[in-house]
Amino acid sequence: MLNDQPKYSVIHFYAAVELFVKARLMDEHWSLVVTKRQDPDKSKFFSGDFQSVSLDEAANRLKKIVGSGLSQAELDAFKDVAKHRNKMVHFFHEAHSEKENNKVRHGIVKEQLKAWYFLHQLLTVKWKDVFHSWNTEIAKLDTALRKLHEFLQVVFDNLSEEIKSQKQNGVHFEECPSCGFESQIHDTDNKIIYESSCLVCGLLEKSLCIECSDCNKLVIFKEEGFSDCQSCGKHYEPENLAEILIDSDEAYISAKDGGDSCEGNCNGCDGYHTVVLTENEEWVCASCFEVFSSLESCEWCNELNTGDMSESYTFGCSHCEGMSGWDKS
Ligand SMILES: [Zn+2]
Ligand SMILES: [Zn+2]
Ligand SMILES: [Zn+2]
Ligand SMILES: [Zn+2]
Repeated sequence: MLNDQPKYSVIHFYAAVELFVKARLMDEHWSLVVTKRQDPDKSKFFSGDFQSVSLDEAANRLKKIVGSGLSQAELDAFKDVAKHRNKMVHFFHEAHSEKENNKVRHGIVKEQLKAWYFLHQLLTVKWKDVFHSWNTEIAKLDTALRKLHEFLQVVFDNLSEEIKSQKQNGVHFEECPSCGFESQIHDTDNKIIYESSCLVCGLLEKSLCIECSDCNKLVIFKEEGFSDCQSCGKHYEPENLAEILIDSDEAYISAKDGGDSCEGNCNGCDGYHTVVLTENEEWVCASCFEVFSSLESCEWCNELNTGDMSESYTFGCSHCEGMSGWDKS
């Protein structure tokens, strides 16, 4: 809509912002939506025969009557959209070059996204009790808007102080592969699978940190057992990672005494000997980063496997075909 009918995009967007603000007032009392220049009249109100509050009036009532006002930043963002609305209605009647039009569109997008960022915060945090029944619709709108980078820039700018102070407290941030901002939080404890989360776009990734075996610097793996050391360039693959993750004392004892094996195969990613018993007594697949509390042995080939092994004598595991394979050959 912004591209083919920018004028209407601007008008409708602003109308939507006003509607949300008025809906919040309405939840308190219908009369708050009527401008102070008129006496509130219930039958006129419900037939639509009344003049509604301006944004400033609404903000004032939210603060003084509802006790849930807008912050200055919120009000400014909404007012910018309102100002643009009035300007745009005239601008697109006149003839302008394509370059000028694009510049104007870009400005509109930024303002709308910023306004949405603040509106979304209001709807899902401060006013969530009033708007919770529309959570799905609000989430859909948010997803659509989060795809636009300009919107995320606003989010990132708003978080920059927090990120700075977290960094000073030793929190490790990486560039997020989804939104491109340095806002993905990492838990640099060695050799434990965790979920890294991006403060800007909310992306979650199963991650793991190790110390590089060559240069001792931090190496981060995301979602899979392939990574390169950013300091010395050493390349890691799942089998290298499996060797690093395995509880070596336990593996030594089992190799020496013929005890239970400390490695198995992954049913999920078909990894061969990628699932290892770590020092935290968890089974971790060094290829797909799934974590298991225990593994069962295949009744046909005896290898440990992450899948359900109850039929394995007949049907095998991820790495053998069981008795049915034997019959065929
Ligand atoms: Zn992100
Ligand atoms: Zn290294
Ligand atoms: Zn796996
Ligand atoms: Zn098997």
